[in-house]
Amino acid sequence: MSSHSDNTMNNAGSESPAATLSKGHNAKSSLKIWLDGEFLDHEKAVVSVFDHGLLYGDGCFEGIRIYNGRIFKLRTHLERMFRSAELLRLKSPYTIDEIEAACRESVVVNEIANGYIRLVFTRGVGGLGLNPFLCDKPTVFIISDSIQLYPAEMYETGLRVVMAERRRFPINCLDPSIKSLNYLNNIMAKVEAIDQGVLEAIMLNNDGHISEGTGDNIFIVKDKAILTPSTEAGILHGITRQYVMEELAPAIGFEVEERMMYPQHILEADEVFLTGTACEIIGVTHLDDQEIGAGQVGPITKSLEAEFRKRVENNAPED
Ligand code: PMP
Repeated sequence: MSSHSDNTMNNAGSESPAATLSKGHNAKSSLKIWLDGEFLDHEKAVVSVFDHGLLYGDGCFEGIRIYNGRIFKLRTHLERMFRSAELLRLKSPYTIDEIEAACRESVVVNEIANGYIRLVFTRGVGGLGLNPFLCDKPTVFIISDSIQLYPAEMYETGLRVVMAERRRFPINCLDPSIKSLNYLNNIMAKVEAIDQGVLEAIMLNNDGHISEGTGDNIFIVKDKAILTPSTEAGILHGITRQYVMEELAPAIGFEVEERMMYPQHILEADEVFLTGTACEIIGVTHLDDQEIGAGQVGPITKSLEAEFRKRVENNAPED
Protein backbone atom coordinates (compact mmCIF):
# COMPACT_ATOMS: atom_id res chain seq x y z
CA MET A 1 0.00 0.00 0.00
CA SER A 2 1.42 3.36 -0.90
CA SER A 3 2.06 5.70 1.99
CA HIS A 4 -0.32 8.36 0.70
CA SER A 5 -3.19 6.16 1.75
CA ASP A 6 -2.31 6.31 5.44
CA ASN A 7 -5.44 6.72 7.48
CA THR A 8 -4.76 9.77 9.62
CA MET A 9 -5.98 12.91 7.94
CA ASN A 10 -5.23 16.59 8.16
CA ASN A 11 -7.86 19.15 8.99
CA ALA A 12 -9.82 19.95 5.88
CA GLY A 13 -12.55 22.40 4.89
CA SER A 14 -16.15 21.32 4.74
CA GLU A 15 -16.56 21.73 0.97
CA SER A 16 -15.88 19.01 -1.56
CA PRO A 17 -13.20 17.84 -2.40
CA ALA A 18 -11.68 18.94 0.88
CA ALA A 19 -14.54 17.14 2.60
CA THR A 20 -13.16 13.84 1.34
CA LEU A 21 -10.48 14.17 4.02
CA SER A 22 -11.80 13.44 7.49
CA LYS A 23 -11.77 16.18 10.10
CA GLY A 24 -9.34 16.72 12.90
CA HIS A 25 -6.87 14.28 14.25
CA ASN A 26 -7.59 10.71 15.19
CA ALA A 27 -4.47 9.91 17.16
CA LYS A 28 -4.28 6.32 18.30
CA SER A 29 -5.00 6.13 22.02
CA SER A 30 -1.66 4.37 22.50
CA LEU A 31 0.30 7.17 20.82
CA LYS A 32 3.33 8.24 22.84
CA ILE A 33 4.73 11.73 22.44
CA TRP A 34 8.33 12.62 23.21
CA LEU A 35 8.12 15.89 25.14
CA ASP A 36 11.18 17.56 26.67
CA GLY A 37 13.07 14.33 27.13
CA GLU A 38 10.36 11.84 28.07
CA PHE A 39 7.64 9.79 26.44
CA LEU A 40 4.10 10.66 27.53
CA ASP A 41 0.65 9.37 26.58
CA HIS A 42 -0.64 11.80 24.00
CA GLU A 43 -3.41 13.12 26.28
CA LYS A 44 -0.76 14.06 28.83
CA ALA A 45 1.60 15.65 26.32
CA VAL A 46 0.53 19.27 26.79
CA VAL A 47 2.23 22.63 26.31
CA SER A 48 1.66 25.73 28.44
CA VAL A 49 -0.66 28.51 27.29
CA PHE A 50 2.31 30.80 28.02
CA ASP A 51 4.48 29.01 25.48
CA HIS A 52 5.54 31.52 22.81
CA GLY A 53 5.08 28.83 20.19
CA LEU A 54 1.37 29.22 20.86
CA LEU A 55 1.29 32.93 21.76
CA TYR A 56 3.34 34.11 18.77
CA GLY A 57 4.01 31.18 16.44
CA ASP A 58 7.58 31.55 17.68
CA GLY A 59 9.47 28.36 16.89
CA CYS A 60 10.26 26.00 14.07
CA PHE A 61 9.42 22.50 12.92
CA GLU A 62 10.06 19.63 10.53
CA GLY A 63 7.88 16.98 8.93
CA ILE A 64 9.71 13.74 8.13
CA ARG A 65 8.49 10.50 6.50
CA ILE A 66 9.16 6.94 7.58
CA TYR A 67 9.23 4.26 4.88
CA ASN A 68 9.52 0.61 5.86
CA GLY A 69 11.12 1.56 9.15
CA ARG A 70 13.69 3.91 7.62
CA ILE A 71 13.50 7.65 8.25
CA PHE A 72 13.79 9.38 4.88
CA LYS A 73 16.55 12.03 4.84
CA LEU A 74 16.48 12.29 8.62
CA ARG A 75 19.86 13.96 8.88
CA THR A 76 19.02 16.54 6.18
CA HIS A 77 15.77 17.36 8.00
CA LEU A 78 17.62 17.76 11.30
CA GLU A 79 20.19 20.02 9.68
CA ARG A 80 17.39 22.19 8.25
CA MET A 81 15.72 22.23 11.68
CA PHE A 82 18.87 23.43 13.41
CA ARG A 83 19.44 26.02 10.69
CA SER A 84 15.86 27.34 11.14
CA ALA A 85 16.41 27.49 14.90
CA GLU A 86 19.70 29.32 14.52
CA LEU A 87 18.17 31.91 12.17
CA LEU A 88 15.42 32.45 14.76
CA ARG A 89 18.09 32.78 17.49
CA LEU A 90 16.51 29.80 19.24
CA LYS A 91 18.96 27.46 20.92
CA SER A 92 17.92 23.83 21.17
CA PRO A 93 18.42 22.36 24.65
CA TYR A 94 19.44 19.12 22.88
CA THR A 95 22.19 18.40 20.38
CA ILE A 96 21.38 17.29 16.86
CA ASP A 97 22.51 13.76 17.78
CA GLU A 98 20.21 13.69 20.80
CA ILE A 99 17.28 14.82 18.66
CA GLU A 100 18.14 12.17 16.07
CA ALA A 101 18.15 9.49 18.77
CA ALA A 102 14.81 10.75 20.14
CA CYS A 103 13.23 10.67 16.65
CA ARG A 104 14.42 7.10 16.14
CA GLU A 105 13.17 6.05 19.55
CA SER A 106 9.80 7.66 18.92
CA VAL A 107 9.36 5.59 15.75
CA VAL A 108 10.28 2.39 17.61
CA VAL A 109 8.13 3.16 20.68
CA ASN A 110 5.11 3.83 18.47
CA GLU A 111 5.85 0.80 16.23
CA ILE A 112 5.67 2.84 13.06
CA ALA A 113 6.84 1.22 9.85
CA ASN A 114 5.28 3.77 7.50
CA GLY A 115 4.31 7.17 8.83
CA TYR A 116 5.33 10.69 9.60
CA ILE A 117 7.30 12.48 12.30
CA ARG A 118 6.54 16.04 13.41
CA LEU A 119 9.47 17.57 15.26
CA VAL A 120 8.79 20.94 16.92
CA PHE A 121 10.93 23.47 18.79
CA THR A 122 8.99 26.30 20.41
CA ARG A 123 10.55 29.35 22.06
CA GLY A 124 9.27 28.03 25.38
CA VAL A 125 7.31 29.46 28.27
CA GLY A 126 7.49 33.24 28.72
CA GLY A 127 5.45 36.27 29.67
CA LEU A 128 2.89 38.14 27.60
CA GLY A 129 5.50 40.35 25.92
CA LEU A 130 7.26 39.50 22.66
CA ASN A 131 10.81 39.35 24.00
CA PRO A 132 11.95 35.82 23.12
CA PHE A 133 14.98 36.02 25.38
CA LEU A 134 12.80 36.19 28.47
CA CYS A 135 11.46 32.69 27.82
CA ASP A 136 12.72 29.84 30.00
CA LYS A 137 13.96 27.28 27.51
CA PRO A 138 12.62 25.93 24.23
CA THR A 139 9.94 23.26 24.41
CA VAL A 140 10.78 20.28 22.20
CA PHE A 141 8.38 17.59 21.11
CA ILE A 142 8.17 14.76 18.62
CA ILE A 143 4.95 13.21 17.32
CA SER A 144 5.29 10.00 15.27
CA ASP A 145 2.02 9.24 13.56
CA SER A 146 0.76 9.34 9.96
CA ILE A 147 -0.36 11.97 7.48
CA GLN A 148 -2.35 12.25 4.28
CA LEU A 149 -2.41 15.58 2.54
CA TYR A 150 -4.49 14.69 -0.53
CA PRO A 151 -6.96 11.87 -1.25
CA ALA A 152 -5.24 8.80 -2.76
CA GLU A 153 -7.18 9.01 -6.05
CA MET A 154 -5.74 12.46 -6.77
CA TYR A 155 -2.35 10.82 -7.31
CA GLU A 156 -3.96 9.14 -10.36
CA THR A 157 -6.23 11.92 -11.57
CA GLY A 158 -4.01 14.86 -10.62
CA LEU A 159 -4.61 17.90 -8.48
CA ARG A 160 -6.35 21.13 -9.42
CA VAL A 161 -4.80 24.26 -7.99
CA VAL A 162 -5.54 27.98 -7.96
CA MET A 163 -3.22 30.96 -8.04
CA ALA A 164 -3.45 32.60 -4.63
CA GLU A 165 -4.07 36.34 -4.44
CA ARG A 166 -2.03 36.35 -1.25
CA ARG A 167 1.70 36.72 -1.86
CA ARG A 168 4.45 34.70 -0.16
CA PHE A 169 6.31 36.55 2.59
CA PRO A 170 9.30 38.35 1.04
CA ILE A 171 12.70 37.02 2.12
CA ASN A 172 13.44 40.28 3.94
CA CYS A 173 10.23 40.00 6.02
CA LEU A 174 10.20 36.38 7.14
CA ASP A 175 12.50 34.25 5.01
CA PRO A 176 10.41 31.32 3.66
CA SER A 177 13.54 29.14 3.90
CA ILE A 178 13.02 29.18 7.69
CA LYS A 179 10.48 26.48 8.52
CA SER A 180 8.93 28.55 11.27
CA LEU A 181 5.83 27.76 13.30
CA ASN A 182 4.22 30.85 11.80
CA TYR A 183 2.30 29.37 8.86
CA LEU A 184 -0.48 31.93 8.57
CA ASN A 185 0.85 33.21 5.25
CA ASN A 186 0.45 29.70 3.83
CA ILE A 187 -2.80 28.96 5.66
CA MET A 188 -4.51 32.06 4.26
CA ALA A 189 -3.50 31.00 0.73
CA LYS A 190 -4.76 27.47 1.49
CA VAL A 191 -8.10 28.99 2.54
CA GLU A 192 -8.31 30.70 -0.86
CA ALA A 193 -7.90 27.28 -2.48
CA ILE A 194 -10.52 25.64 -0.28
CA ASP A 195 -12.94 28.54 -0.88
CA GLN A 196 -12.61 27.78 -4.59
CA GLY A 197 -13.22 24.06 -4.11
CA VAL A 198 -9.65 22.82 -4.56
CA LEU A 199 -6.96 21.68 -2.14
CA GLU A 200 -3.90 23.66 -3.04
CA ALA A 201 -2.85 27.15 -4.11
CA ILE A 202 0.31 28.36 -5.78
CA MET A 203 1.83 31.47 -4.25
CA LEU A 204 3.71 34.23 -6.05
CA ASN A 205 6.37 36.34 -4.42
CA ASN A 206 6.03 40.11 -4.22
CA ASP A 207 7.65 40.53 -7.65
CA GLY A 208 5.11 38.22 -9.25
CA HIS A 209 7.46 35.25 -9.61
CA ILE A 210 6.18 31.77 -8.80
CA SER A 211 7.41 30.74 -5.38
CA GLU A 212 5.75 27.52 -4.15
CA GLY A 213 2.57 25.83 -2.97
CA THR A 214 1.31 26.37 0.57
CA GLY A 215 3.04 23.20 1.75
CA ASP A 216 4.99 21.95 -1.25
CA ASN A 217 7.44 23.01 -3.96
CA ILE A 218 6.51 23.29 -7.62
CA PHE A 219 8.14 21.96 -10.79
CA ILE A 220 7.17 22.38 -14.41
CA VAL A 221 8.07 20.26 -17.42
CA LYS A 222 8.37 22.08 -20.75
CA ASP A 223 9.79 20.65 -23.99
CA LYS A 224 11.48 17.82 -22.08
CA ALA A 225 13.15 20.20 -19.60
CA ILE A 226 12.34 20.14 -15.89
CA LEU A 227 12.31 23.56 -14.25
CA THR A 228 11.72 24.76 -10.70
CA PRO A 229 11.74 28.23 -9.11
CA SER A 230 15.13 29.36 -7.81
CA THR A 231 15.60 29.68 -4.09
CA GLU A 232 15.87 33.46 -4.66
CA ALA A 233 12.14 33.44 -5.42
CA GLY A 234 11.64 32.98 -1.65
CA ILE A 235 10.79 29.35 -0.98
CA LEU A 236 11.32 26.62 1.55
CA HIS A 237 14.37 24.70 0.37
CA GLY A 238 12.37 21.50 0.16
CA ILE A 239 14.10 18.23 0.86
CA THR A 240 11.88 16.38 -1.61
CA ARG A 241 12.67 19.14 -4.15
CA GLN A 242 16.37 18.56 -3.55
CA TYR A 243 15.91 14.79 -3.90
CA VAL A 244 14.14 15.27 -7.25
CA MET A 245 16.91 17.59 -8.45
CA GLU A 246 19.88 15.54 -7.27
CA GLU A 247 18.68 11.95 -7.52
CA LEU A 248 15.35 11.26 -9.19
CA ALA A 249 15.54 13.46 -12.28
CA PRO A 250 19.10 12.31 -13.18
CA ALA A 251 18.00 8.69 -12.65
CA ILE A 252 15.38 9.07 -15.39
CA GLY A 253 17.72 11.03 -17.66
CA PHE A 254 16.93 14.66 -16.84
CA GLU A 255 18.60 17.62 -15.22
CA VAL A 256 16.56 20.19 -13.33
CA GLU A 257 17.10 23.87 -14.03
CA GLU A 258 16.34 26.46 -11.35
CA ARG A 259 15.04 29.74 -12.68
CA MET A 260 12.66 32.61 -11.98
CA MET A 261 9.22 31.80 -13.38
CA TYR A 262 5.87 33.51 -13.91
CA PRO A 263 2.31 32.11 -13.91
CA GLN A 264 2.50 31.93 -17.70
CA HIS A 265 5.12 29.20 -17.33
CA ILE A 266 2.53 27.03 -15.58
CA LEU A 267 -0.13 27.67 -18.19
CA GLU A 268 2.26 26.86 -21.04
CA ALA A 269 3.80 23.84 -19.32
CA ASP A 270 3.50 20.28 -20.60
CA GLU A 271 3.36 19.01 -17.02
CA VAL A 272 3.33 20.49 -13.53
CA PHE A 273 3.92 18.62 -10.29
CA LEU A 274 4.35 19.40 -6.60
CA THR A 275 6.79 17.86 -4.15
CA GLY A 276 6.88 17.69 -0.38
CA THR A 277 7.35 15.34 2.52
CA ALA A 278 3.61 15.08 3.10
CA CYS A 279 2.40 15.11 -0.54
CA GLU A 280 5.47 13.27 -1.93
CA ILE A 281 5.12 13.83 -5.71
CA ILE A 282 1.73 14.74 -7.17
CA GLY A 283 0.78 15.86 -10.67
CA VAL A 284 -1.17 19.09 -11.22
CA THR A 285 -3.69 19.17 -14.07
CA HIS A 286 -5.41 22.54 -13.81
CA LEU A 287 -4.60 26.06 -12.71
CA ASP A 288 -7.71 28.18 -12.10
CA ASP A 289 -9.86 26.04 -14.44
CA GLN A 290 -7.28 26.15 -17.23
CA GLU A 291 -5.94 22.81 -18.32
CA ILE A 292 -2.21 22.23 -18.05
CA GLY A 293 -0.73 20.22 -20.94
CA ALA A 294 -3.07 17.33 -21.73
CA GLY A 295 -4.99 17.88 -18.48
CA GLN A 296 -3.66 14.62 -17.03
CA VAL A 297 -0.77 13.55 -14.85
CA GLY A 298 2.10 13.63 -17.35
CA PRO A 299 4.58 10.86 -18.24
CA ILE A 300 7.64 12.53 -16.71
CA THR A 301 5.74 13.14 -13.46
CA LYS A 302 4.73 9.47 -13.46
CA SER A 303 8.31 8.31 -14.03
CA LEU A 304 9.57 10.49 -11.19
CA GLU A 305 6.84 9.17 -8.90
CA ALA A 306 7.73 5.59 -9.79
CA GLU A 307 11.44 6.22 -9.22
CA PHE A 308 10.64 7.91 -5.89
CA ARG A 309 8.46 5.05 -4.70
CA LYS A 310 10.98 2.42 -5.74
CA ARG A 311 13.80 4.14 -3.84
CA VAL A 312 11.95 5.03 -0.66
CA GLU A 313 10.25 1.68 -0.32
CA ASN A 314 13.38 -0.40 -0.91
CA ASN A 315 16.00 1.33 1.16
CA ALA A 316 15.11 4.94 1.92
CA PRO A 317 18.25 7.08 2.37
CA GLU A 318 18.53 8.42 5.92
CA ASP A 319 21.43 10.83 5.32
N1 PMP B 1 7.17 24.50 0.90
C1 PMP B 1 6.52 24.65 2.06
C2 PMP B 1 5.96 25.97 2.40
C3 PMP B 1 6.36 23.55 2.93
O1 PMP B 1 5.71 23.70 4.09
C4 PMP B 1 6.89 22.30 2.55
C5 PMP B 1 6.70 21.11 3.44
N2 PMP B 1 7.59 21.07 4.50
C6 PMP B 1 7.59 22.19 1.34
C7 PMP B 1 7.70 23.31 0.53
C8 PMP B 1 8.21 20.89 0.92
O2 PMP B 1 9.39 20.68 1.65
P1 PMP B 1 9.89 19.22 2.00
O3 PMP B 1 10.07 18.51 0.71
O4 PMP B 1 11.19 19.44 2.71
O5 PMP B 1 8.87 18.60 2.85
